[in-house]
This record gives sequence, structure tokens and C-alpha cells, in this order.
Amino acid sequence: MTDSQFLAGIFFADDDVIWATASVTDREFAYPGMVFRSNPDFINKSDPQKPPHAQRFPSNPNATDDVAEAVARLAESADISKIEAVTTASIGPFQDGISGLVAGGSIISGARLQKWSGFDLAGAVESEFAKYGNDHVIVRCLTDAEAMVLGEHYHFRQFRLRGHTHGSKAYREKEYKLGQDTVAYILLDSGVGGAVFQRNYFKRGEASLEIGHTVAYPPPGLEDKYPVANCGAHYLPCLEGTISLPALKEFWHLTAEDIRSLGSDSETLRWLSFYIAQAVHHMTLFFTPTVVLLGGRVVSNPHILEHTRTMYEDLMKNERGNQLYPDYKAQYDREEYIKLWSRPDAGVLGCLCWSFRSARHGKDGRKNVGYLAEVGW
Ligand SMILES: [Zn+2]
Repeated sequence: MTDSQFLAGIFFADDDVIWATASVTDREFAYPGMVFRSNPDFINKSDPQKPPHAQRFPSNPNATDDVAEAVARLAESADISKIEAVTTASIGPFQDGISGLVAGGSIISGARLQKWSGFDLAGAVESEFAKYGNDHVIVRCLTDAEAMVLGEHYHFRQFRLRGHTHGSKAYREKEYKLGQDTVAYILLDSGVGGAVFQRNYFKRGEASLEIGHTVAYPPPGLEDKYPVANCGAHYLPCLEGTISLPALKEFWHLTAEDIRSLGSDSETLRWLSFYIAQAVHHMTLFFTPTVVLLGGRVVSNPHILEHTRTMYEDLMKNERGNQLYPDYKAQYDREEYIKLWSRPDAGVLGCLCWSFRSARHGKDGRKNVGYLAEVGW
């Protein structure tokens, strides 16, 4: 890439649209080169909770306006004709399976929010860019959870790298090993979703991972008080039907604000954690990650992480104290294994990471190749 090329990311959350641009060479921008040696430039010193230059606006009632406004704002902040790749993150799942990672795609009909249902997101972004004279931009679409896990994976590695000196053989070996990390993300908000980035690849099949629709089990004896529910998309009761924000409001009479203020001895908080622990349990059984990160407004309570860790430990052992994975050390350091998201705007960073990877591979680039392998690791 040359100095004049730019990347963009647009994260369509339920209430906000968050966007950012980055240059791969200009260190004044947020994500210089996506190379970890440049990480000191990455932290936004004035507000460490946000990636630098990540900006947002309130969502519009329909998806077309969201896309148009996002691209208009990109055009105000950068020379849009020079943007080489843009990655979106949004509600899923995508109609055409894995090409959601490769060539964009349409969101499946019947998606959780009507405004996105059946929407041709990649097509809409492409035509907005064309209005500004950019008909060469590479458009890629991720689910919200996929973008979050990618951004968090970046942070996770950054954190692990801190303190190592550059350039030595040991350092490079360490870098390589960090490339093997498996970061799982569980998004608990208006919907429940998840994504896994493992050894430089997204772990998924022909469509996005849909952990929110795994079966939920009620707490024994408390089935009526903390009930499981069906999300409406399939037959069995699931995590999204049970502990998404709308479900918690309907069946448990809890708003996001109520959840935040529950005390550490709250029985409701304990059983909410029991359900979250089931999601962690599924992630462990399928992917045995290095770390499981929990994000979204459902986990905004200050005590919920500790309750979830305790509930998870209970779920993963039997009455004799046996453990399913005796040699799987990661999960036994509970503080290291189950953590909260590091910052809400990690998703837009994930979009930029994927744009970087997409620009490297070009319009007909290889499918689902990790971005880290291509930056000199
Ligand atoms: Zn469901």
C-alpha cells in the first residue's frame, strides 16, 4: 500500500453508528500499519476507553439512512476516493454464509431488527461510495460479535506484548506464540451473539456463529422465577430468548439500568450469571479458548463477572469435583479465563483490522485469512 491509501470501519450498533478511518502509514492516525510494534501510537491518551478518531452518531430508523449518513461522515473527514477498503459490522446472520467475510452480503430475512432484515448491506455501502466517485473500494461485512472479537484480539495481544523488548529472537518467538491465541467473545445486549478468532482465523462455518440460539437450561427449582424462553426464530428456548435485554425486560422485568444496580448478594444477579455461564460453557466445549470475553449492557453490573466465574466453575465440574479438561490450564485461572470486554469501541477497531487484511488481499482475496499473518509475524 502507498501513503495515500486509507481504510475505514463502520460499526452499526442498535442505538449508534460508530465509524473510523485509518491510514496504514500515517502514525497520526489510529492504527498505524496494524503492526504491533506500533502499539504505543494506538492508545488514545485523552480517552483510553475509545480508539482514537472513533466517532459516532445516533442510529436512524432505517438502514439505508444509516449507511448514507456513515459514508457522508467518512467523506467529511477523509478523501473518500482514496479509501481502499471498508468493513462494516452489524447484526447478522448473513444470507450468503461465509461470503459475509469475503464479499459482503445481505442480512438474513427475519433478523432480530426489522430495519436490517433482508438488507443488502454490502450493496448499499458500495453504491454510497460510488456517489462520491469511489467505485474501487473493497467492501467487507462482519457481524457485530466478529468485529468485537477481532478488536479485542488486537487489544489482548497488545496487552500481552507490553514490556517485551523489540527485535530479539525471543521477542519474535513470543510474537509468534501470541498468534496462536484463541479469543472468544460473547455479546450480551439487545441480542446475544458470539464469535471466535483462533489462530488468525474466524472460527465459523458457512454462516456466522449463532451461540445466542444455543439451548438454555433453567435453574433447577426456579424455572418459574427465572424462566427460559424462546426467541421466536426456532423451537427450543435459547440464550437470546432468555437473557437478551428485551427478554429480561419482558420476563424478569429488568432494564439495563436495573441490571447495573443489582447488589452482589442479589439472587436475580446470581441466576442471570447462571445463564451467562452456560454461554461460556458452550464456548469452552466447542473452542477451548485462551480467554472468553463478555461484552454488552447485560454484563454492565460490577459483580456479574465474579458470579459468572463461580457459576461457570460449578457447571464445569461434577459432584465429585472432576474436571472435564484436566490439562487445560487456561480455564482454571478464572481471572484470566473469563473477562469483561476491554472497551465498547473495540468493534470499530476490528472493522479496521479486517479492512487492512482485505486491502492486502485485494478484491478477489483469499477467504477468511487472518490479518495478523500478513503483517510480518
Ligand atoms: Zn433463539
